[in-house]
Amino acid sequence: MINVGGFNLKTAERLTKIPPYLFMELRKKINKAKSEGVDVISLAIGDPVEATPDSIIDELCRSARDPQNHRYPTDEEKGMLVFRKEVARWYQERYGVSLNPENEILGLIGSKEGCHHFVLARVNPGDTVLMTDPGYPAYRSSILMGEGVPYNVPILPQNNYLPVFEDIPADVAKKATAMFLNYPNNPTGACATLDFLNKLVAFAREFDIAICYDNPYSEIVFTGQPKISFLMAKGAKDVGVELNSLSKPFNMCGWRLGMACGNPELIAAISKVKENTDSGIFNAVQFAGIQALSGEAGFIEEMLSIYGRRRELVLKTLKKIGIDFNPPRGTFYLWVPAPKPMTSLDFTNRLFDKTAVVVAAGTAYGKYGEGFVRISLTVPDDRLKEAMERIEKEFS
Ligand SMILES: *Cc1c(COP(=O)(O)O)cnc(C)c1O
Repeated sequence: MINVGGFNLKTAERLTKIPPYLFMELRKKINKAKSEGVDVISLAIGDPVEATPDSIIDELCRSARDPQNHRYPTDEEKGMLVFRKEVARWYQERYGVSLNPENEILGLIGSKEGCHHFVLARVNPGDTVLMTDPGYPAYRSSILMGEGVPYNVPILPQNNYLPVFEDIPADVAKKATAMFLNYPNNPTGACATLDFLNKLVAFAREFDIAICYDNPYSEIVFTGQPKISFLMAKGAKDVGVELNSLSKPFNMCGWRLGMACGNPELIAAISKVKENTDSGIFNAVQFAGIQALSGEAGFIEEMLSIYGRRRELVLKTLKKIGIDFNPPRGTFYLWVPAPKPMTSLDFTNRLFDKTAVVVAAGTAYGKYGEGFVRISLTVPDDRLKEAMERIEKEFS
């Protein structure tokens, strides 16, 4: 509550339900230590440090100089047709998925925006919305802002971090109108199989649940793991949409560009929300996105080899200090078991206090994240090396 000259300015109650954004808390802690002169290394946030490829930046500059692009975006909320056509081509080439750019694709200001607008497009106040625990915290915020009721579906190591549909109580499934999933999974790194996706479609169909399959890591996989889209499952388009993003594969987190693909009714509904909220994506950013998808697939391979090398370094260090585990094969995170009997928070705090290395406590992603921490590989090689040296010294 801010008191302005006797006027009590109260903000909306829905905001009080939203837990503080994890990274804001972390940022405060980091800033405090930094201001005290500590050489902090943060392995907590997934945000690539290497630059966006030059050809994409060049295309942005070229398009930004064209006054045509200074006006409201073409096709406003849906995204330019040329962008949607390029997304369709990309989905065909990468995943063998056919999409109609006219009504099955929508440009997004990032996949996070899509999550939020998906809720507004599908969920009525009081509806149950399923999400995983551990899970990406923004789903909960989006559900709460849309006045839905989040229900946590545990994803456990013994099930390869996939939900077990039979374990979701039938009365909960009946009440649910939507579900968020994300594989390759943030935070666990787990990947889905096509067999699992087929089960997901069957579950969605049985209980009339709209699926929001958030897939920004579809390209970030290692050691022979296949690249999979939800839309590869039979009937996926009947039950949901897949959100994707240029942020993670092309180092474009700051550019804010993504897409929703799939069910035409949901696409139209999300589009209606967007029409009344934002007026679409800057055309120049969409042209740059076309350049990324059409000309920079090779860049993804380069980044994968960099992340792969960093993965090996972290795994080798962890093994040396007695943390030996079989890591899932997706995303640029490692979901690391804390040495027993330490809790997630004990391990996180010890790392920070003794080595000034910041990792994300597993419990920040839900109570089933207990016993784990998440390490991000999106830091420069030399900083990661330094962090691993400090950790090795502290724990041996
Ligand atoms: C990074 C991330 C996003 C955000 O993607 P943007 O396209 O940058 O909004 C969405 N979902 C998950 C699971 C993420 O990790």
